[in-house]
Amino acid sequence: MSQKLSGVKGMNDLLPGELGGEMAPIETWQYVERTARELFSRFGYGEIRTPMVEDTALFVRSVGEETDIVGKEMYTFEDKAQRSLSLRPEGTAPAARAYIEHSVANLEPVTRWYYMGPMFRYERMKTGRYRQFFQIGAEAYGSREAAQDVELMDMVVQLLEALGLKEISLNLNSLGDEACRPAFQKKLVEHLTAHRDALCADCQRRLEHNPMRVLDCKNEKCQAVARGSPDILQFLCEPCQAHFADVRRKLDALKVRYVINPRMVRGLDYYTRTAFEFIASHPALGTASTVGGGGRYDKLVKSLGGPDVPAVGFGLGLDRLTLLLREGGQRYSAPPDVFIAVADEGSQDEAFTLASRLRREGLKVEFDTRGGSLKSQMKRADKTRARFALVLGEAERQAGRAQLKPMAGGEPLSVALGEIAQAVRAAPQAPAPQG
Ligand code: ATP
Ligand code: MG
Repeated sequence: MSQKLSGVKGMNDLLPGELGGEMAPIETWQYVERTARELFSRFGYGEIRTPMVEDTALFVRSVGEETDIVGKEMYTFEDKAQRSLSLRPEGTAPAARAYIEHSVANLEPVTRWYYMGPMFRYERMKTGRYRQFFQIGAEAYGSREAAQDVELMDMVVQLLEALGLKEISLNLNSLGDEACRPAFQKKLVEHLTAHRDALCADCQRRLEHNPMRVLDCKNEKCQAVARGSPDILQFLCEPCQAHFADVRRKLDALKVRYVINPRMVRGLDYYTRTAFEFIASHPALGTASTVGGGGRYDKLVKSLGGPDVPAVGFGLGLDRLTLLLREGGQRYSAPPDVFIAVADEGSQDEAFTLASRLRREGLKVEFDTRGGSLKSQMKRADKTRARFALVLGEAERQAGRAQLKPMAGGEPLSVALGEIAQAVRAAPQAPAPQG
C-alpha cells in the first residue's frame, strides 16, 4: 500500500458542508467574502490581488526586522536564482509595494483598495491560530484626515453588523509620530529596564532593539510589566492630540462605541497615530480573540521608496470570523430546490436531461447519476435538505406531468414537466438561510 500523505501542519483544507473538521464550512467563508465585497464596494473600495510571494526585503523594511512576524514567523526561501523570497505574512506591505510600483499616486489623489487571501506565518498552532490563514484587509492612501481613519473603522463595524456578529469591542489608541514618540520611548525604556528581570527572554532582547514590542508580548509576566508602563497618550504632541481627538469625535458622531487602550500598540512597526483592534469576547477563540486590527501608517509608502503619501488600513482574520459565525449555529449553504429521483431505469436518461434543463432555467438541482433504488434516492433527497423531490417514472413521462413533493411536508403539487421551474419559484419559501 502507498503511504498516506497529509497536508502541511497548520494549513487547513476548507471544505463544503460539515466535512472540514475544525474549520468552518466553506459556505460560511463565502458568505463573509460575499458580504465584504458587497459592503466594501459601497464604500468605494476596489479589489487588488497581489502575489503570494514577495521579495523578503519588502517585509523586513516595512513590518520591521525586530518584530515576531519577520524575526520568527516568516516562510523565507531562495528561488533558483538565489533571490530571497518570502510567503507574505500580511497584506499592507504588498499593497504599498503595488501602489508605488504602478505610480498610483500620480493617477489619483485618494486610493481605496481591499484584498482578501491567504497569509503565512510560522506560528504555534491552536484554535484560531494557523500557519496559513486568511485576511480581508483594506487600505486608503492619500488622506491624512481623521475622517479616513474613521471611514475604515466604520467599514469594519458595518461588516461585523452585517454578519450579525455582536460582542466585538473596538480598542483604540494613538501611537504618536516621529515628533512625539521618541520621548515616550525613552520613558518606556526606563520603565522596562527597571523591571528587566521580570521580562521573558524575548522581551529582554526587544528592550534593546524594539521596546514598543514588549507591550504586545503575550507572556503574562511581561503583560504585568506593560500594565505599569507609561501612558503613550500623555506624550502625544499637539498635532497628534488633535488628530486623535478628531478620530474620537467622528466615531462618536457615527455612534461607534470604543474603548481607549493606551497599551495597545499592534505587532508591526509601521504604524503612526491611530491604532485599533477589534476584540471578540467569545470563549471559542481562546487567546486568539483579536479578529482584526489596523491603523495609520503615514511613513510607510515613502520608506519603501514611494512618494510621501499618508495611508491607513486594517486586516481582519477570516479564520476567526468564520469560527465565530459557526458558533452562532447558522448554516450558510442554500439547499437544492429540487431533487430528481428516478423510478425505473428507463427514465434515467430523461431525468438526466430534465436536471440539465432545470439548472439552465436557474434551479439548484440534485440528481444521482448512479440511479439505484427509489428508496435510496429518497434518502439522499432528505439528506440534501432539498425543498422538493420530483419522482420521474414511466407514468410521469407518459402524462408529461409529475408531482413536486415538498420535503418539509405538505400537499404534493402536480405540475407539467415543462413548467417545473415556474412552479418551484411560485411555491411559498421556507425561511431562507441567511446569505
Ligand atoms: P495576534 O495578536 O492574535 O497574533 P496579530 O496582531 O499578529 O494577531 P495582525 O498581524 O494584526 O495579527 O493580523 C490581523 C488579523 O489577522 C488578526 O487580528 C487575526 O484575526 C488574523 N491573524 C493573524 N495571525 C493569524 C494566525 N496565525 N492565524 C489566524 N489568524 C491570524
Ligand atoms: Mg501574531
